[in-house]
Amino acid sequence: MSATGPGWAVAGRWDPHVHLLSGAAWCCSVDCSPAAVRSVGEIVARVREAAAHVAPGAWVRAVGYDEAALAEQRHPTRDDLDRAAPRHPVRLQHRTGHLSVLSSEALRRCGIGESTDEPPGAAIERDLASGRLTGVLVQMEDRLSACIPPLGEAELRAGFRRMADRCAAGGVTGVVDASHTNDTAALALIERLAEEAPWLAVRAMIGGAAAGALRPREVPPRMRAGWAKVMLRELGEDRVEPVVPRAEGLVEWCRELAARGWAVAVHAVSESAVRAAAAALEHAPRPGRLPHRIEHAAVCPPDVARRIAAAGIQVVSNPLFLWENGGRYLQTVPRPLQPWLYDVGGMLALGVKVRAGSDLPVAWPNVPASVYAAATRRSRHGSVVPGRGLDARRAWRIHPFRPRTRAWWDRPPRGPDGLPDPSARVLRVEVDGVVAWRAGEGVRA
Ligand SMILES: [Zn+2]
Repeated sequence: MSATGPGWAVAGRWDPHVHLLSGAAWCCSVDCSPAAVRSVGEIVARVREAAAHVAPGAWVRAVGYDEAALAEQRHPTRDDLDRAAPRHPVRLQHRTGHLSVLSSEALRRCGIGESTDEPPGAAIERDLASGRLTGVLVQMEDRLSACIPPLGEAELRAGFRRMADRCAAGGVTGVVDASHTNDTAALALIERLAEEAPWLAVRAMIGGAAAGALRPREVPPRMRAGWAKVMLRELGEDRVEPVVPRAEGLVEWCRELAARGWAVAVHAVSESAVRAAAAALEHAPRPGRLPHRIEHAAVCPPDVARRIAAAGIQVVSNPLFLWENGGRYLQTVPRPLQPWLYDVGGMLALGVKVRAGSDLPVAWPNVPASVYAAATRRSRHGSVVPGRGLDARRAWRIHPFRPRTRAWWDRPPRGPDGLPDPSARVLRVEVDGVVAWRAGEGVRA
């Protein structure tokens, strides 16, 4: 107990992999996540309700749907969105952030039609019988973001405040932005938005494309994370390529960034991408104290984990995804791969330096659930993904603490099994012993 109120004190945590601009935008959009809707019909109703408050012709943004969590077990289509908001362009983003559904008016404004070619690695879904576009667009997010007008800064500020509230509620007091699109302008915007939550420490990586023309010391020290982020695009059949195409390929690009003084963080989800990332980073010199990183490493078999450990590469994985999606993984991921899925226990046992991140807004920071899922591989609905798990002490340790900050939880951080209750929430946050945030009141100076 403390003089400032009830609760149990737990060190505040860093979340080493988040996306702040999309997170703030998420908080300005219609929430279609599984927590908010259960069917396509409910999505239609929510979008219709939101469109009633938006001027005709202006964009309606909706986010977070997961077709596997919808009663109809399918993606919403342009026809659903047209029905919901016939007079607005609508973009509905999937919870993974790698896929969107556009209404007919939105498709028209983005210049996407029946004759549009699919860019490499992307897919424009069509009705098999008629060839008509369904509105579902896979891996075309960069193109869509380029033609859909961005939110204004005032809206983003309000969104940032709500996002920061959710970080605090989940036990996080510091974040590292890992967006491959970050350039100096994006960093300046993030720095301004961060004024809305002064208690939250904010650092940002630089996208690989922008990092090629920058050195780490040119990033404002307050924001400097030290990593350049390289995005890999999965082309299927075990082929991957960097999203910014480089004639010399991934290995040379990573080496070049390291030579400019950057530690390199490579986004790699599938087994082939993780192998490619490991091979590239093994050959990159280490520019300073920071390790190179592999982001997600969703499928990491033991032989790759050994190589990653030997090269001193850090992995930022997402045990929280097991909590959110464990049941779906059991159905969709081939059984032989399941034990290697977000296998923080297995990687740690082989000597890999592992950290856990939320990938906000793909999942929302939730330290208790992340610790719990890292230890047990259990989902919120009770499914258990095969694999080795972790003891409680190590499950905590992959969530690095931010010094001089404390989160006061509403229940003890250790239950009888030594693990936190995944539904524990934070009541208030202290920085240097001073209350800086309280649940329900939002941000303070
Ligand atoms: Zn990410």
